[in-house]
Amino acid sequence: MQLDNKFQVQKFVCIGRNFGYPSCCIKDFVIGMDWRTDIDVSPVAGWEETCFIPCVKCRENPKTELIQMISNRRNVVDAFPSSAKGDSTLYDSIKDEVLEIVDECMSVIARFK
Ligand SMILES: [Zn+2]
Repeated sequence: MQLDNKFQVQKFVCIGRNFGYPSCCIKDFVIGMDWRTDIDVSPVAGWEETCFIPCVKCRENPKTELIQMISNRRNVVDAFPSSAKGDSTLYDSIKDEVLEIVDECMSVIARFK
């Protein structure tokens, strides 16, 4: 996949944020979706059934803490780690955070073009 469009990136960031994933993990995952970048987005041992790929930094944290954090940030009904439907709605409550992540993703991706 090639991510050249800001709205394309925004859609993925929104889904990740509504699922409650930490900003750092969303950022790495979205950047890694672009084949031109060098971020590995292969499933991580211990997280395979969750569809969530913790970033390198968060992999160091205890799994229970990360699950608790994700559960608290979640905007979807289904409790983590059970699967939920992707929601790419840019709610007011997450808007600033999402737009900041989108900008960061776009500037990193731009370096690989
Ligand atoms: Zn992270």
